[in-house]
Amino acid sequence: MRDIGFRMEITRGCYRNPFQNFEEKEILIEERYDETTGVSSRILPYRVRPAQKPDIAPYLEKSPESLCPFCPDLFDKLTPKFPPDVIAQGRFCRKEAWLFPNAFPYDATNTVAIFSSRHFLALDQFSPETLRDGFGVCRDYFFRMAEMQKGYQYGSINWNYMPPSGGGLIHPHLQTVAGKKPTNFMRRLLASAQNYAAASGGDNLWRNILLWEKQAAQRLIADTGVVYWLAAFSPKGMAGEIDFFFKEKTSFFDLTEANMDEFLQGLSRVLLYLHVNNYMSFNLSLYATMTPEKHFWVQGKIVPRFELNPLGTSDLNYFEKLHDEIICPVVPEQLCKELQPYFQA
Ligand SMILES: [Zn+2]
Repeated sequence: MRDIGFRMEITRGCYRNPFQNFEEKEILIEERYDETTGVSSRILPYRVRPAQKPDIAPYLEKSPESLCPFCPDLFDKLTPKFPPDVIAQGRFCRKEAWLFPNAFPYDATNTVAIFSSRHFLALDQFSPETLRDGFGVCRDYFFRMAEMQKGYQYGSINWNYMPPSGGGLIHPHLQTVAGKKPTNFMRRLLASAQNYAAASGGDNLWRNILLWEKQAAQRLIADTGVVYWLAAFSPKGMAGEIDFFFKEKTSFFDLTEANMDEFLQGLSRVLLYLHVNNYMSFNLSLYATMTPEKHFWVQGKIVPRFELNPLGTSDLNYFEKLHDEIICPVVPEQLCKELQPYFQA
């Protein structure tokens, strides 16, 4: 198998520790680089994690249901509608879930989807059933875009949950983006897959990553059939990163409802793990091609987000923002071990 490009180097440092009579203390920092994603990270040997459940009350006070554009009182008045050529009713709907244009779009096709009329859900309340219709309306929208022959080749379903992750509203909501060009990061993934295939005589990068991780048995959280879950070797966030891949699915439209259900089962387990470990916020992206791209598999990432107490310090600092390297005090192999039991329950 051609090398999949995980690089690791250990840097040793030393300081005199004020908490132990200024005795010399050695520190080991693992510098990691993933050639597929281009992510550089430093895995640090000290454990920094939210020690207690974050207080949700101040968020709910500042963003009450009475002011929420996604709650039933204001929903119809304040959420945008599509022109009738997209959908006659103006919005996509599955039971309590709705999808509509983003009022503050990043892109021509930036939409918002709500799961239900429920204003707040903690991370242990997202059962697969709770998640199903929200992801379902995103699916309906992508199918409609394909039917309208918009020529979109790349799409994503995204989620900022709660303010530490950039979420602007408490009310749980997804966002879709579709376009003729991939986003910068998706372009990187596509190029890595194509370069790997070219250099290996046609091998599929994602298939080999799965084989590699199965053999290594250090970061493979679970293989649930069509979907497999990994702790990322070189994470994109200070609290690590959890990845999912849809085996052999080379376009969003290859995903069946059953495949989506399998994914949502896993997602629900990951969110429960986060809840138990005192996280309440995360970013999620599902990346997909919208026309078959044989070297690419539909896949995504979940990055837990948090504020550092007591100041509410951001988990994103100069190292990530301006040097493009991630500081991560969560060891990916440990994150994997902690998540595995959630998939065995
Ligand atoms: Zn609401």
